[in-house]
Amino acid sequence: MLAIIMMMFLSLSLIFYYTSEHEAESRIVTQANVAADYLEGASRDEALGIMNEQFAGVYRYTLIAEDGEVLYDSEVTDESLLDNHGARPEVLSAKEAGSSVASRYSETLNADMLYAAVQLDDGSFVRLSESRESLLSYMGELAVPMAVFLALACCLVFVVSRALTMRIMKPIDALDFSDPLENEIYEEMDPLLVRIDEQQRQLKIQNKELARAESLRRDFSANVSHEMKTPLQVIAGYAELMKNGMVPPEDTAKFAGLIYEESQAMRALINDVLTLSRLDETAFDGDTASLVDVLEVADRVKMRLQVLAQERGVTVSVSGENASVIGSPTLVEEMVYNLVENGIRYNHEGGSVAFHVSVEDVSDPFLRLDHNVTRRFASGQAPRYDASASQRQVVIRVTDTGPGIPPEKREKIFERFYRMEKSRSKETGGTGLGLAIVKHAVMYHNGRIDVNGEVGKGTTFTVRILSA
Ligand code: ADP
Repeated sequence: MLAIIMMMFLSLSLIFYYTSEHEAESRIVTQANVAADYLEGASRDEALGIMNEQFAGVYRYTLIAEDGEVLYDSEVTDESLLDNHGARPEVLSAKEAGSSVASRYSETLNADMLYAAVQLDDGSFVRLSESRESLLSYMGELAVPMAVFLALACCLVFVVSRALTMRIMKPIDALDFSDPLENEIYEEMDPLLVRIDEQQRQLKIQNKELARAESLRRDFSANVSHEMKTPLQVIAGYAELMKNGMVPPEDTAKFAGLIYEESQAMRALINDVLTLSRLDETAFDGDTASLVDVLEVADRVKMRLQVLAQERGVTVSVSGENASVIGSPTLVEEMVYNLVENGIRYNHEGGSVAFHVSVEDVSDPFLRLDHNVTRRFASGQAPRYDASASQRQVVIRVTDTGPGIPPEKREKIFERFYRMEKSRSKETGGTGLGLAIVKHAVMYHNGRIDVNGEVGKGTTFTVRILSA
């Protein structure tokens, strides 16, 4: 602000100074010509008399002979003291052009002077001169009023801007941020209010999600403790009976077997809980992902579950083609294991579990989208997925001949610790976490899982994950 005012002061005084100088020049030239006319038209003394009247106090005038000798000077009494003026610039150029104007420093008068000289018919010169202010002194004169003006302007600017700021801030101070869009304020503020509103809404959603996650976590911990207590109580009970000698020797093996079973159930539970909490903490990571052949995994799982299948009298078959997905081998195995294990456990003697894997065109556009967004494959390779190319998916179907799952329960079964029939699941050795792990593993691979089947006939779980 101050700088702008200073600049304006400088440029204005420059403009004023140079226009006034210019005007003074043309004025003095006109007057010199007038003086020349007087001198040409009348005797020298007459002419000097007229000039005296006309120029007194305004111009100093000098008559100079052709050879430069000063004949008369209105401000000097003894002209003989003055040196020869023949070499003065204005005289020299008047000799050439008939008339001239020049401004320079006069040593005779110690001041900046403006001169105009005109050569007369007889060869002599008449010269008018006027003392002028230098640019600096001109500006110096203006400086004091300018400083006063500046100070006043500053005060005014301060007062006015304070008042304005207060007026502008008043409605802003009064803003009600609990409902940003309800405020009536300047239009210019609307985008800001809309943004604040959006952010508040996002925050609310995040808070809700956090609260939900927290309550899920608390439920989960409570459930885990509860699930642990039961087998522990059973183990403690049987062990106490044996310790007190209340178990006849022929029954010890049976009781030890019961204790063994319960401890196995606890071990399974702890394993599942650990898997789930690990899953809660990890997201798909392109750097650690690898190619997983689902058919190979299924063969391995079949071997691992052979004993259980024999116990239950259930046959397990694995069929289909070699098909790979990109992801975590451990999680894929966990997923396949839980699905096949459920197929065996929720089945009847003589029943079967069929595991089938195939590669098909992607039918679900969302699956494709998810993959394109999420997948950035390992170690700096370009993403493998090209949206325009037709994409293929690995489809895993696990079909059993068990009791089936009624449609209204098909979502619930994926919840942690959800069991359709408490007693039966317990007796089949379930933890209630198997399908929660499956769902997590599928989500980790950006896939989807569906449940089909018919109550009384069996169930089919279908998992779709984008093919590698
Ligand atoms: P659990 O350890 O109890 O098996 P899961 O999460 O694996 O826990 O399964 C949840 C519930 O879903 C089970 O209790 C069972 O009632 C039902 N379920 C799971 N798989 C099947 C299946 N193949 N056939 C029928 N019911 C099933």
